[in-house]
Amino acid sequence: MARNKKITMRKSIAGLKPYAPNLEASGCKMDANENPYDIPADVKKEMLGMFMKEDFNRYPDPVASRLKRALSAHLNVRPESIVFGNGSDEIIACLIQAYAGPGDCIVVPSPTFVMYELIARAAGVRPLRVEAGAGFGINPEMFIKAVSWPSAKLSFIASPNNPTGVVFNKKELVKIIEAARGIVVIDEAYFDFSGETLLPLLKKYKNLAVLRTFSKSFSMAGLRLGYIAAGPDIIEAVNRVRLPYNVNMLTQEAAIVALKRSKKIEKSIKVVIKERERMYNEIKGLYDVPRSSANFFYIKVKDAAKARRAFAAKGISVRAFTEGPCAGRIRLTVGKPAENNRAINILKRGV
Ligand code: PMP
Repeated sequence: MARNKKITMRKSIAGLKPYAPNLEASGCKMDANENPYDIPADVKKEMLGMFMKEDFNRYPDPVASRLKRALSAHLNVRPESIVFGNGSDEIIACLIQAYAGPGDCIVVPSPTFVMYELIARAAGVRPLRVEAGAGFGINPEMFIKAVSWPSAKLSFIASPNNPTGVVFNKKELVKIIEAARGIVVIDEAYFDFSGETLLPLLKKYKNLAVLRTFSKSFSMAGLRLGYIAAGPDIIEAVNRVRLPYNVNMLTQEAAIVALKRSKKIEKSIKVVIKERERMYNEIKGLYDVPRSSANFFYIKVKDAAKARRAFAAKGISVRAFTEGPCAGRIRLTVGKPAENNRAINILKRGV
């Protein structure tokens, strides 16, 4: 009898849409903030050699102990202060699951990375958006007010922020951490392009967590690996809700090799930063665009959908914002020099 009855979803997800990645075929992907340079071929070979030694019939190490030790040495953070996720997206979900429920809220700057809000809404948690201040900086007074609410269990602050590329003022972030009743997650997905981090403050603030990913500067978006560094209480909370085998053994092995060969992989970061500065100098006089401390630009255009089509016609995909707080802007990821030249030419012609 119940067989043909439509089974309804939870109310909290009724208004959500599945994540729609840009699937347009394009020769040149400048829409997802990836590193345009893949892992060097010799490092990839070393990774493949490690894969061959693995027993695929066995489950992976549920706590990624070898990887944790390698990252601990790389960051100079105790291994007990690290948890990995299948991308940092997964850790955002774990944090929300661990700390917030219906009736609670998360605080985010606006605009920012959409996943915080999507994951929160799916869990029945309200997002509280705090409008950006001047130059897309944080608005400290408003943010402090928001994080002082008893129901504000978590705040997510991406610095540099996505999609603006703006890095937030450290002193203002510290004031927010000190005022917050809940956990403050500083999402440093683009840290390597800015060089600014709050990692040394972990010892001082129990409510601080630093989120990072191997998807951007480390050229491993396809392998899915993110991590959080935090004090013991937050680590314990994430571990309680995290699925036991969330990071597969190939990703664990690849990341161990990536850390061993980090000098080689990190060469691309310098190239991307140099290209970012070159691009900024070319476009700053033509468009309303904040200085970027990440690997992308947030550019005000005449019409975002038209701009996307203008880039697509030349084989370049960009992220276009046609609605919401970012409407009328595009986000353009820094690519390889020749790709950047093509993008600059399109921008010079006017979009
Ligand atoms: N945080 C920010 C600010 C991001 O821009 C992204 C990716 N777009 C992520 C987290 C998620 O990265 P991943 O899941 O690939 O680690």
